[in-house]
Amino acid sequence: MTIFSTLKSYISEMKMSHIYKPLMLIELIKGNGKASGRKIAKSFLDYDETQIDYYREIVKKMPFNYISKSLKELKREKENYYIEAFNLTKEEKGELIALCNKRLDEYIDKRGIKNILSHRSKSLGVISGSIKYEVLKRAKNRCELCGIESSKKALEVDHIHPRSRGGKDELLNYQALCYSCNASKGNKDNQDFRDILKTYDDRSDECIFCDISKQKIILENKLVVAIKDNYPITKDHYLIVPKRHIQTYFELYQPELNASNQLLIETKQILMKKDKSIEGFNIAINSGEVAGQTIFHCHIHLIPRRRGDVKDPRGGLRGIFKDKQIY
Ligand code: 5GP
Ligand code: ZN
Repeated sequence: MTIFSTLKSYISEMKMSHIYKPLMLIELIKGNGKASGRKIAKSFLDYDETQIDYYREIVKKMPFNYISKSLKELKREKENYYIEAFNLTKEEKGELIALCNKRLDEYIDKRGIKNILSHRSKSLGVISGSIKYEVLKRAKNRCELCGIESSKKALEVDHIHPRSRGGKDELLNYQALCYSCNASKGNKDNQDFRDILKTYDDRSDECIFCDISKQKIILENKLVVAIKDNYPITKDHYLIVPKRHIQTYFELYQPELNASNQLLIETKQILMKKDKSIEGFNIAINSGEVAGQTIFHCHIHLIPRRRGDVKDPRGGLRGIFKDKQIY
C-alpha cells in the first residue's frame, strides 16, 4: 500500500470524538509529513471561538483604547479598526513592521514570553488570571472535590454549571478542581443542567422568606439575602437566606453554599466594624421541626455575641439541652 492509500483509508475510517485528528493530519500533510506541536496547536486554536472572543475583547479594551489616546488617526467602526489617511509605500510599511518587531523582541527579552501571557493559562477558557487567583484563594489552594494540594496537582478553574449549558461566568459558579477531578467531571457529567438552572427561581407563594416585599434586605448577592431577624436573640441577629425556596440546608447547591458563606462573612465584617462590643458569633441552623425549625425556608442564623450577654456562655449551642451545656 502506498502512504497515500494508507492515509486515505485511515482518514475515511477514523473515529472522531473531537476535531483534533483531522486538524493534526492536515498540518502534517501540508508540512510534507512533518509538523511541530506548536503548529498543530495553532491550528486547533483557529477553531476555538472562546479564545478568539477573549482576544477580540482584549483588542477593544487594551491596545485600541491606549493607542487611540495618543494616535488620533487610529479609529474604530464597530469591530473594524483602521488608520486614517493611510498611504504608505511598500518600503515604509516594511520599515514600520520591522520597528514593531524590534520593540516586541526587546520587550520579550526583558520580560520573558511566559510572564507576558501568564494571565492566559491554556486550561482556563475565558476565565481571566485575576478571577483564577480569586477562586484559588477562596479554595485555599486545594481541589474543592478531592482536596489535593495545588503543589501536588495543578488546579484549574471549573464552571460548576457548564457554560455550554447556560452556566454563568461569575465567581459563584466557579470552583477550583485538580486536573483529574476536572477531567472525570467532564466525562461523567451528562446531566441536563437547564432544568436545574430554572430551579434557582423557585419561590413559594405561602412562604414569608420568599416574599421579598415583607422582608427588609440589608445585604444580598445573586443567590442569597441577609435580613434582620424580627425577634432577635441578641442585638443585630441576622438571617442568611437563600433566595431559592428550599426547606433545609442540605438542599443547597454548591454555588448557594459559596454565596451563603460569602454573605455570612460580609455581614460579620460589617457588624464587627460598627459594633466593637461584638467578640464572637453563634452560627446556627435549625433543620427540621424536631430540631426547632419554625420557618420552613432554609436560613442560617448569625447571632452576635458580646461579653457578659449571658452569665456563663460555655458550651454555647449545647445549651439547647440545658443539663448538657456544661461538660
Ligand atoms: P427558625 O426557628 O426557623 O430557625 O428561625 C426562624 C427565625 O425567623 C426566628 O428567629 C424568628 O425570630 C424569625 N422570624 C420570624 N418571622 C420573621 C419575619 O417575618 N421576618 C424576619 N426577618 N424574621 C422572622
Ligand atoms: Zn420560601
